[in-house]
Amino acid sequence: MKAELTVTDGVRHIRPDIRAMQAYRLPPGPAAQAATAIRLHQNEAPEDWPEAIKREIAERLVAAPWHRYPSARADEACTAIAVMQGTDPSMVAATAGSNEALWAVFAACASGGTVVMPSPTYSMAKTLAVAAGAKVVEVPLGDRFALDAGAVLRAAHARRAELVYLASPNNPTGNALDRDAVLAVVGGAPGAVMVDEAYWEFASRTFLDAVDRWGHVIVVRTFSKAMGGAGLRIGWLTAQPPVIAEMAKVIPPYSLNVFAQTAVPVLVAHRGLAAARVRTIVAERERVARSLRALGMTVHASETNFLLFEPGRLPADVWQTLAERGVLVRNVSAAPRLQACLRVSIGTPAENDRLIAALAPDTLRGAR
Ligand code: PMP
Repeated sequence: MKAELTVTDGVRHIRPDIRAMQAYRLPPGPAAQAATAIRLHQNEAPEDWPEAIKREIAERLVAAPWHRYPSARADEACTAIAVMQGTDPSMVAATAGSNEALWAVFAACASGGTVVMPSPTYSMAKTLAVAAGAKVVEVPLGDRFALDAGAVLRAAHARRAELVYLASPNNPTGNALDRDAVLAVVGGAPGAVMVDEAYWEFASRTFLDAVDRWGHVIVVRTFSKAMGGAGLRIGWLTAQPPVIAEMAKVIPPYSLNVFAQTAVPVLVAHRGLAAARVRTIVAERERVARSLRALGMTVHASETNFLLFEPGRLPADVWQTLAERGVLVRNVSAAPRLQACLRVSIGTPAENDRLIAALAPDTLRGAR
């Protein structure tokens, strides 16, 4: 009894704003644990790296010392990433997934201050900003989820925001932000601007070039989506060298463990395979979108590896029906303006066929 009281009591020492936060979690569906489930709920790459490439990494890992700390700043990995994206290695800092990059930027730029971000956007961005001690001001996206640069700038100036967070392409809406609108925010913001490009490989545009021109722009990318490395936890940020030097004080040393550091140069060497798979995913995305539209559903424009769609029935019911048929999608209907929506990742062609079949009217008959 006493131990129980002590445990409960300990929670008092957690900051009230953290206790008030919703934890980021995926709803456990009936099929969530089933090995046979088709996982279209986390925007992962649908195919693993070939065994030969995994063995190449494993052999290097066996040869690497595990009892020593690896490179504190993952130098070799940063160099490989820099080569891959055509920037200088001094403009790259590696992190344990891009989530850690977001957290580090929120902490370094806006702890005790304000972050402005559009809504809806990546829900974890808000959680991480609050955890890093920032206040979050949300500005609604406009028509078709377009970035309202004027509204973002007005909010940023009114609150003297230290940071604006933009995701392009945006999650969960799927659209890439308009270039002129993003550059208007970059040109007029009172503080730094972070552009989260987790899905940039699937899109028609990137804002990486803005980093060359503007010292207050930070671009965040990841190995978790197009590069097929979600399990490895590798992300990075790109900014001008003096900003990277400051960020190195916030990002803990050894953020990339020896496994991640070993994997990066090998995966970068094989990036042609990832690029080929991106082309397949983009073609499949358009095929799935056409199929869902043919079923009478509304499908929003996407430049990512997922689709935001309105099934035309209660999303929670459709989510349930799909889960019972072994297809996991994401119910995003709690987000502002997305009451009618589900989000589905693009899988392999066979998985996408299963999704389309599971959404056919006779299958959905049971759903309200
Ligand atoms: N940013 C966006 C927009 C995302 O959708 C995600 C993952 N869903 C992340 C960042 C984080 O990805 P990771 O930490 O795996 O790099």
